[in-house]
Formats: sequence, structure tokens, C-alpha cells
Amino acid sequence: MDLLELEQRFGTQRKCEEFLKAKRWPDGVTCPKCGTKRPYWIRTVRLWHCRGCGHRFSLTSGTIFHRSRTPLRKWFIAIYLMCTAKKGAPAKQLERTLGVTYKTAWRMSHQIRQAMKHADFDNKLAGIVEADDAYVGGKRSGGKRGRGAPGKTIVVGLKEQNGALKAVVVPDLKADTLKAVLDSSVRLDAEMLCTDELKSYGKAAKDYAHEQVKHSETYVNGNVHTMGGRELLVPVQAGRDKGLPPGLVQAPASVPRRVRVPVQQPEEPGHLRGGAGRV
Ligand SMILES: [Zn+2]
Repeated sequence: MDLLELEQRFGTQRKCEEFLKAKRWPDGVTCPKCGTKRPYWIRTVRLWHCRGCGHRFSLTSGTIFHRSRTPLRKWFIAIYLMCTAKKGAPAKQLERTLGVTYKTAWRMSHQIRQAMKHADFDNKLAGIVEADDAYVGGKRSGGKRGRGAPGKTIVVGLKEQNGALKAVVVPDLKADTLKAVLDSSVRLDAEMLCTDELKSYGKAAKDYAHEQVKHSETYVNGNVHTMGGRELLVPVQAGRDKGLPPGLVQAPASVPRRVRVPVQQPEEPGHLRGGAGRV
């Protein structure tokens, strides 16, 4: 979504309210206290009144927008800016863009950041994320490594450093395909996205802080190392055993840890992308 689209979708208070309502209560307005559906709407005070427990609540009760005098439209722009900027949007920028006081901007950015932390936004991966692809299945056991192995399923694996792992079955490794996988699985403000040198990763990851390493080289470039497809076989196989459909397969908790390659200085300093000072 770009700024223009943002303006079209969330340009008015009314549009923002509709969006929030649909997101918050996809099955109809529900009392946040007791769960009773279909409360009365009291137009004069713009509150719902629960038929079950008598609780009164607004669209924003219990959200970061509650009791804020800043219009939702500005909140939505702030959230957009904070989610799309690689390093998040500083309060100073929000102050300028939204035309609010610095104090308000600071409070908004603080609350959005807190909410993002707790909400774990769509379970997207964050921090340092490694992405790699693997070919699995077929007759040979172990899944031969290499792009273009026939009769195999292509899986893109994404892993948070020491954290969650996702595996997505894809039809191919074209840039558009990979971009869709990244967009749905990795937060835009992830500290770093590491992949190997495949060209389509470069195109797919252009919105991210992206580093590429060469598989053929044995050294590790600072934080950057891709995991090698083999590790993915574990969660993918586990997903199959559970009868999960192809698509997103959540990894089991106990994925064996990768054997770490010790950091080695390359023989020629020119070998290291970005200069020898990176290690
Ligand atoms: Zn209630």
C-alpha cells in the first residue's frame, strides 16, 4: 500500500471507523466484557450498551485510540509510517507529517510501538531473519540441494534468529513469488533480511534491509548467513505428518539448531562484499 492508497482507504474519520469496526468485530459488534452480541447503539453518546451486562463501550475502548483527541485518520497514517519505515518513524517525523504537537507525536509513536510489540503483528518475523529455499520430496531421500531439481516441491523457509520459523510452499522462485512470501511473513521493519545471492531475492526484498551471501563461500559475513535448505526438511516433514495442507506450515518447537560455521577470514580481502572491515 502506498500513501495514495492509504489516503483513499483511510482518508476520512468514517472510513477509519468502518475499517476498525470490521477488523475488531468481523462477526458483528460484541461486548468486550462479556461477549454478548448485538448491543444497543446509543447515538447521542456514540456508545454501545450491552444487553447482557450493561457495559457501555465505544469503537475505540480498549484500543490505543481510546480517549485520544487525535483523529483516527492521523493515527492510521502514523501506524502506516511506523510499519513501512525501515527503522520506524521518529516522533519528529510524525509531528511534521501529521501536524500534531511533538508531545502528541511522541505519545502516539510510543503507544504504537508498544502495541506492535504486544500484538506481534500477524505473527510476522522480525529482527534478523534468514530466508532460504529448498527442494524437498521426490524419490531421493534427504532432498537434493540445488535449484531446478525436477519433481520436487519448492519450499521457502524463513527463520528468525533463535526464533520462529515459517515454511511456505511456492510454485517457483520468481521475484514476484518471493516478494509475496516476504510481504506476508516478514515485517518491513525487520532489522535485517538475509538470503543467498539468487537474483530474484534482490528484487523481492528491495523494501527490506537486505543482505545477500554466496552459498558457495564458506565464511560468514557478520550477521549474514543463510541456513541451507536441509534444515527446512524437518518442519516441512512434520507438517506433512500432521496432514497439514500445502501452504504455510508452522514449525514444531524443537527444530534442531543449525551447526554454526565459525567465522573465517577469506583468503583474499577483496572476497568480502562490502570490504574486509565487515567481520
Ligand atoms: Zn456485556
